[in-house]
Amino acid sequence: MSFSTLTLKPELVDNLKTMGYDSMTPIQAQSLPAILNGEDVIGQGKTGSGKTAAFGLGLLHKLDVKRFRIQSLVLCPTRELADQVAKEIRTLARGIHNIKVLTLCGGVPMGPQIGSLEHGAHIIVGTPGRIIDHLQRERLNLEDVNTLVLDEADRMLEMGFLPDLDYIMAEMPRERQTLLFSATFPKQIQKVAEEIMFEPVIVKVASTH
Ligand code: ADP
Ligand code: MG
Repeated sequence: MSFSTLTLKPELVDNLKTMGYDSMTPIQAQSLPAILNGEDVIGQGKTGSGKTAAFGLGLLHKLDVKRFRIQSLVLCPTRELADQVAKEIRTLARGIHNIKVLTLCGGVPMGPQIGSLEHGAHIIVGTPGRIIDHLQRERLNLEDVNTLVLDEADRMLEMGFLPDLDYIMAEMPRERQTLLFSATFPKQIQKVAEEIMFEPVIVKVASTH
C-alpha cells in the first residue's frame, strides 16, 4: 500500500520518495493510520519490518516545529540502536525547517550532551540510564513530551530497564501518546502496556512482506 493513502506533511512524502520507500511495509500500513490518529499503538514485528519509520513518521507528522520544546522521547535499549533510530528520523525530517533530534546515550561524556540540551531539541532519542542521569541533574525537562516511544521494548525489559522506564514515565505528562514496539510480546510487556497505555491498538505482523 502506498504512503499516499495517508495524509502526511508534503516534506515527509518527498523524503520517503528520496529514501526509496515506495510502499508501506505491513507493520507501517497497519499501524500508521492509528498512530497518525493519535492513538496508543503496540506494534509487534520482527527485526527488519520497518518499525522505525512507523513511529518516526508519526512523531514527525505531529511535531510543532515552531515550538522549540522536547515533544517526543524515543527510548531504545542500546546506544547503537538509538543512533540508528536518530539517523532514520533525521533522514525522514530532512527539509522540515530546523528539526532538532538529539541522542542521549551512555558511554560518552555528559558535558557535551548537557551543552546540546542547553541549545534545545524537539526530539530526544536515548537509552534509559542516561536519560535518568540528565533528569536527576535537572538538565532535561520532559514536561512538554506528547509522544513517548518504547522501541525494542522486549529487549529493554530483558536488560532490566523496567524501574528506569517507570522513573522516566513519572517525569512526563500522563496525557500523551504512547507507542510500544517489540519483536516479541511476552506477558511482562503485556502487563507494562496495560499500565502505561490507553486502549492501545495492537498490530501484529508475521513477516516483512
Ligand atoms: P525494524 O525496526 O522493524 O527492525 P527498521 O525500521 O530498522 O526495522 O527497517 C528495516 C529496513 O527496512 C531499514 O533498512 C529501512 O531503511 C527499510 N525500510 C523501512 N521501511 C521501508 C519502506 N516502506 N520501504 C522500503 N524500505 C523500508
Ligand atoms: Mg527497530
